[in-house]
Amino acid sequence: MSQKINGVKGMNDLLPGEIEVWQFVESTARTLFGRFGYGEVRTPMVEDTALFVRSVGEETDIVGKEMYTFEDKGGRSLSLRPEGTAPAARAYIEHSVSNQEPVSRWFYMGPMFRYERMKTGRYRQFSQIGAEAYGAKEPAQDAELMDVVVQFLEALGLKDVTLNINSLGDDNCRPAYHAKLVEYLNAHREELCADCQQRLERNPLRVLDCKNEKCQAVAAAGPNVLEFLCEPCRAHFTDLQRKLGVLGIRYVVNHRLVRGLDYYTRTVFEFIASHPALGTASTVGGGGRYDKMMKGLGGPDVPAVGYAMGLDRLVLLLKEGGKTFTQRPDLFIAVADEGSQDEGLALASRLRREGLKVDFDTRGGSLKSQMKRADKSGARFTLVLGEQERTSGQAKLKPMAGGEPVPVALDNVAATVRAQPEAAAPVPAA
Ligand code: ATP
Ligand code: MG
Repeated sequence: MSQKINGVKGMNDLLPGEIEVWQFVESTARTLFGRFGYGEVRTPMVEDTALFVRSVGEETDIVGKEMYTFEDKGGRSLSLRPEGTAPAARAYIEHSVSNQEPVSRWFYMGPMFRYERMKTGRYRQFSQIGAEAYGAKEPAQDAELMDVVVQFLEALGLKDVTLNINSLGDDNCRPAYHAKLVEYLNAHREELCADCQQRLERNPLRVLDCKNEKCQAVAAAGPNVLEFLCEPCRAHFTDLQRKLGVLGIRYVVNHRLVRGLDYYTRTVFEFIASHPALGTASTVGGGGRYDKMMKGLGGPDVPAVGYAMGLDRLVLLLKEGGKTFTQRPDLFIAVADEGSQDEGLALASRLRREGLKVDFDTRGGSLKSQMKRADKSGARFTLVLGEQERTSGQAKLKPMAGGEPVPVALDNVAATVRAQPEAAAPVPAA
């Protein structure tokens, strides 16, 4: 017997039955981004490793520990993309987009790869939906981007997600805060976890992001970044909050919010769900402003703000909500005798062309077994096609939720089905 081969650890298959909720999230995102004027960008799954090292930063968990990096046959160091902001920025620079339009708004969705320790809501291949707005440095742009997310979550029906915001300042004011933070953390070194003792040397801001309770307690009592902001950064943050007020968006100022990437300046934000199903993976999305990154990647001096949401975590939340997303068939066609099999197949084909969702059992079989399948399919109506129906051209639509059969002419099935009022949905058996 041949040995069975399994999928790669941390990378999931999505089968019909589960995929519908994903499609719902994706189509909702497309609708919302469309309304806000964001166009879709698709970049390759693989990039030059240097792109992530230079933008995300060598000292981050993502680049330091989590990247799938390999050498291709030509000896180049490539990496599976761990995030979408750097690839989008690379494409923006490479195609000189800033010469063509002063402001560009892009969104993307697709798989990302990080070699992480897996648990609920944390996988090695996962999906993100993200957006980037290039060219506007104003707080209104930060607010507009948060508004897309808020309206997106509303459209998904997800409540109990809190927007946290913070400002990390800029090159002008952050060094003073940084120095103070290092001094403070050094004084509390013994209380930090082993990872954070290392972070303290290499990337002290990361300590604020640690999920260890003791480290969080130390961080909570530490210096407050907002007290170190220079005047322009303070004005930006104040105006952002005023604009969120104008939009009626509720938020919490969280001075410990830093985010896991190196490239942020000024605004950072996260959307945090309170549902216990997510455990420590409670952040459904986050982002921030990265006014210096384009230049750092050899591009034009263009300000930008962006965010990314984890599709896997949104799907987990939606599943917890218990709604079903599978679309049931309008009609199940059953055949009463062998001689009606061809006409059943042809009728199903014609009705599908006319836009109905039709189920038809290509195996045929007894009428009784077909009726069982009709029940299981969750179809609204069943139509039985036999010799009598074929000769008279008349049949009946049997409502599967119960009730009187509806007479129908075989050449008018689609219109008749559409004209029937939606009864309470029968619950599919599987
Ligand atoms: P976390 O702190 O949970 O590790 P992160 O800061 O690494 O998150 P980002 O890089 O900001 O995450 O990515 C944005 C979003 O992508 C996250 O909020 C999360 O919803 C999702 N995400 C990140 N890593 C994973 C993963 N390994 N599996 C599933 N979703 C993920
Ligand atoms: Mg992470």
